[in-house]
Amino acid sequence: MINESRLINNFMAMVQIPSISGREGKMRDYLRDSLQERGLQVQEDEAGVKLQGEAGNLWVRIPASMEAETILFAAHMDTVEPGEGIKAIIEDEIIKSQGNTILGSDDKAAIAAILEALDVIRENRLPHGPLELLFTVGEEQGLQGAKQFDFTSLNATMAYVLDAGGDPGVIVIQSPCQNEIEYKVYGKPAHAGINPEKGINAIQAAARALSKMPCGRIDKETTCNLGIIQGGTARNIVADYCHIKGEARSLSRSRLDQITQTLKNTFIEEVQKQGARAEVEVKFLYPEIRLNPEDRVVKTATQAIKDIGLQPRLESTGGGSDASIIQGQGIPCVNLGIGMSNVHSCDEYIKISHLIKDTEIVLAIINEVIKAK
Ligand SMILES: [Zn+2]
Repeated sequence: MINESRLINNFMAMVQIPSISGREGKMRDYLRDSLQERGLQVQEDEAGVKLQGEAGNLWVRIPASMEAETILFAAHMDTVEPGEGIKAIIEDEIIKSQGNTILGSDDKAAIAAILEALDVIRENRLPHGPLELLFTVGEEQGLQGAKQFDFTSLNATMAYVLDAGGDPGVIVIQSPCQNEIEYKVYGKPAHAGINPEKGINAIQAAARALSKMPCGRIDKETTCNLGIIQGGTARNIVADYCHIKGEARSLSRSRLDQITQTLKNTFIEEVQKQGARAEVEVKFLYPEIRLNPEDRVVKTATQAIKDIGLQPRLESTGGGSDASIIQGQGIPCVNLGIGMSNVHSCDEYIKISHLIKDTEIVLAIINEVIKAK
């Protein structure tokens, strides 16, 4: 039923359209036209305007041919760099770039699979429940597009993001929530040789505070990091300012809150002991996903993957995705492995067999949902 050459050609056409985050305009046009050619009504939201990018999120509601639960499939339109002038080539059943750019299978393999699934459904008049599609912008820039989307526009009660590493069959059911944490120290400048005793060294105050703080793996579910440190103005001036950028993640919201509080309190207290002043800013980036094998969204994917002859693999990941945002909006959501490899590098590639499996998974999930009816 799957038209392999159509799937491959559409995928190759899409990866060759540059769509680096914020500059998704051409990809938006292609995708909107593709969906409209299939007789669908496409909506674009205001995310492009709000994020000062070229395009907003696209979303589509596909009327059902029979009564069933509404499900959402989501993928992102943007890519990382270097993503200009991509030329996709096929070699040994693999699609890759020429080696000077990324490929963009992250996440256009997902979009290609979803579009092919729509064609298969239409051509074969396959029964299906109500479907919703969401194609986001700015995912690679901190899930920006998904964060702007108004989820009250959707009716879906289960969602599938097709954007996980790992082969088709992987179902990511756990991912952490994350805080970005910025630490600032204000000291007092003085000449380092003439009157250092009149200064308060912000770098040293920061160093003493940081040495008292946990860093790295905290427990099985929780990690934190100090990633960037900057400060001072000149070698011969007592540093009056220093700032540090860090983060904390956990599969558990209460553990995230706890570790964040510990980091914040320790930093402020220790800096104050040095006579300097500290400020700590915490920004919540995205919520956790913590699903169980018994949850319906997981069970449906598990059964769908078995139906097409693959072994389901339930996994946990250390990063966020659009699935985090969708789940956070109250729609149970998993992220599915689509077989993209070496993403975010010029060695990125995808097996043609995986593109086909991705399409089969979409079709099998749609089929599982109507079977449940
Ligand atoms: Zn991605």
